[in-house]
Amino acid sequence: MPKLNITPADLRRILCFVAEAIGKEEAYLNSLDGAIGDGDHGITMRVGFEAVKATVGALDASVTIDGVLTESGAAFMGATGGAIGVLLGRMLMSAGAALQGCKEIGTSELRVLLNSMETAVASAGKAKPGDKTILDAVHAANQAVATTAEADQSLPNMLSRASLAAGTAAQNTAGMRARVGRASRLGDRVLGHPDPGAVSFSIIMRAMAQWLEEN
Ligand code: ADP
Ligand code: MG
Repeated sequence: MPKLNITPADLRRILCFVAEAIGKEEAYLNSLDGAIGDGDHGITMRVGFEAVKATVGALDASVTIDGVLTESGAAFMGATGGAIGVLLGRMLMSAGAALQGCKEIGTSELRVLLNSMETAVASAGKAKPGDKTILDAVHAANQAVATTAEADQSLPNMLSRASLAAGTAAQNTAGMRARVGRASRLGDRVLGHPDPGAVSFSIIMRAMAQWLEEN
């Protein structure tokens, strides 16, 4: 029976599980970035999530959800450079700020979390949906949980919907031209290649959904 709520201890385990999933995809993410960027995205994601893993492992047992998110964001940003370091760092820290004092993530907290992440990445990156960035996957995940019919609203179900939506959105970025970030200089040459950041976010969502299903 999958969990219906995510406690701070669960969230710490989930972030470690995400770190492993990202680590397994390092070479793939580098190759995606190699096609339309500078080829470092997999390294940056692996290094960032290794820092998150180390940080959440050292937190006090009394930490709340917002504490885990805020510390993770700071760790990610501190350990990495590049666009994604700032963007994912801000996404995690904004989610922490939006869930202040929160002791468990249920369905309404999941909505707040994804919504705050979308707002953060859009404002930090000055991107819009359709610009071929990580925002496309975040936006799709946010929309999927925001529009889940009441009868289908359970945390595992909503995370699974968010994961599927993010995965589809990430693949759909292959058909887009980039309007922001490094890839924006390449014009039509980016067509046919998915955006690395969007694929990373879909891997994060997939790992979260999988963890919830298995635990
Ligand atoms: P860098 O481009 O600095 O080498 P990474 O390769 O780690 O950083 O990350 C690239 C990803 O960052 C892109 O695939 C895209 O998803 C995201 N990105 C870059 N610039 C922006 C932006 N302005 N807004 C939103 N996302 C962006
Ligand atoms: Mg890069």
